[in-house]
Amino acid sequence: MTQIKNYINGELVAPVSGEYLDNINPAEGKVYGQIPDSTSKDVEKATEAAKAAFEDWSNTPVTKRARVLNKIADLIDQNHERLAKAESEDNGKPLKLAMSVDIPRASANMRFYATGIQHFASESHYTEEGAINYTMRRPVGVAGCISPWNLPLYLFTWKIAPALAAGNTVVAKPSEVTPMTAFLFSELCIEAGLPSGVLNIVHGLGGKAGQAIIEHKDIPLISFTGGTETGKRIAATAAPMFKKLSLELGGKNPNIIFADCDFDKALSTSVISSFANQGQICLCGSRIFVEEEIHDKFVAAFVEKVKKMQVGDPAEESTRVGAVVSKPHMEKVLSYIKLGKEEGGEVLTGGQQVKLDGRCENGYFIEPTVITGLSHNCRTNQEEIFGPVVTIMPFNEEEEVIEYANSTAYGLAATIWTENLTKAHRVAHSVKSGIIWVNCWLLRDLRTPFGGMKQSGVGREGGWEALRFFTETKNVCIKL
Ligand code: NDP
Repeated sequence: MTQIKNYINGELVAPVSGEYLDNINPAEGKVYGQIPDSTSKDVEKATEAAKAAFEDWSNTPVTKRARVLNKIADLIDQNHERLAKAESEDNGKPLKLAMSVDIPRASANMRFYATGIQHFASESHYTEEGAINYTMRRPVGVAGCISPWNLPLYLFTWKIAPALAAGNTVVAKPSEVTPMTAFLFSELCIEAGLPSGVLNIVHGLGGKAGQAIIEHKDIPLISFTGGTETGKRIAATAAPMFKKLSLELGGKNPNIIFADCDFDKALSTSVISSFANQGQICLCGSRIFVEEEIHDKFVAAFVEKVKKMQVGDPAEESTRVGAVVSKPHMEKVLSYIKLGKEEGGEVLTGGQQVKLDGRCENGYFIEPTVITGLSHNCRTNQEEIFGPVVTIMPFNEEEEVIEYANSTAYGLAATIWTENLTKAHRVAHSVKSGIIWVNCWLLRDLRTPFGGMKQSGVGREGGWEALRFFTETKNVCIKL
């Protein structure tokens, strides 16, 4: 049984309390490892180490910082299969997905910001009254980075890479539910020669170790990805302390399909955008709106495809839908399917827990589920389910579907399918989401701003946005 350790001041160490939590493999429903149950004492040690390392790291030339980050990226690539297996085992996601998406993206994040920081330039403004201004951007200090369980190493590195590239030191906490690749990552950081204290990883519970990071007086900026309720709690603690905050929160994303779309492309991509990673991606399109004219044809073809999706052992090549991340999460998703029925929905396929044979007999598997017959404003269509469940609803008018799309408290991502470019622009303009895909889904250019409107978050990640977040601006005005 693997017992993972915290990474503090360049060393792998046991938690101060000596207490551990169980780590569960969701495909087997079995404990397979132990995680430090860290407390504020561990966060204190991590923060002290990060503070001590800040002076050197923030003054290290960007080319040197970039070299270490690129070295870490190389090591991620060299350990591709080992990391993908660990991610799949820890999270329940198909190994194939971890191999093709999660781990390649983790090294891409490191490389992207290793390069980006070398091109990050300051602004200068000439003032007509005879002055010149230049704006410096300096690292802020110790950054707190907290990430969720759905894309563990992918989202962990998405925060850490820009924070470190910009010259901050970091105290980070991965989700307690999926800590394994963050632990392996700490080993790679040591191997890559990342100076001691520059990155510190504290494992443990959100309400304990996570909360201690948020409350710490010497951590002036917080980058958080997770649920909207947790985001509210974090903002309530951090805002009165005047911390810089970046919050990437939940979503309830509309997938709008017009009758003039490329039907086959819209259909096959919508199956993926509904059920990739068991529907546990904040960007999944969980509410599908189909124009009346093609609604019945789309529903029939969609259901036929979904029925063929193989739910199974994440390690198997043929598996399309793996385990959901935990037993409580499985129960939450199943309770939403029950709610959907109570609200008058018809389950066209799925709806049940799946019992597999062999090593996965106690795993947490749910059939990909399609529900129709619900109104756009019922709870099933307003609350984030974050599992393999989608609803499909018809619409007639463009204005009507825009109203449906905008009817939730969220505004993270939206997908629009139409071959009419003018209509695509019009709808993209009116839908209140931070990210809009037209005739595609999850096509990511890391230079673009990433984040949500309304209760989907505050601030943007990606490209220069992240480097701006992780730096403090200072303007110098010189009278000529
Ligand atoms: P949670 O909000 O439960 O947890 C996210 C992280 O915060 C975890 O590391 C968690 O630790 C920690 N945490 C929990 N409570 C606190 C606290 N009081 N103080 C500090 N940290 C805390 O989210 P999930 O892990 O369940 O992730 C799923 C959610 O993330 C979904 O809502 C999804 O939409 C959202 N998400 C958003 C994305 C975006 O970019 N907008 C991307 C991916 C996911 P622990 O796990 O140990 O409790």
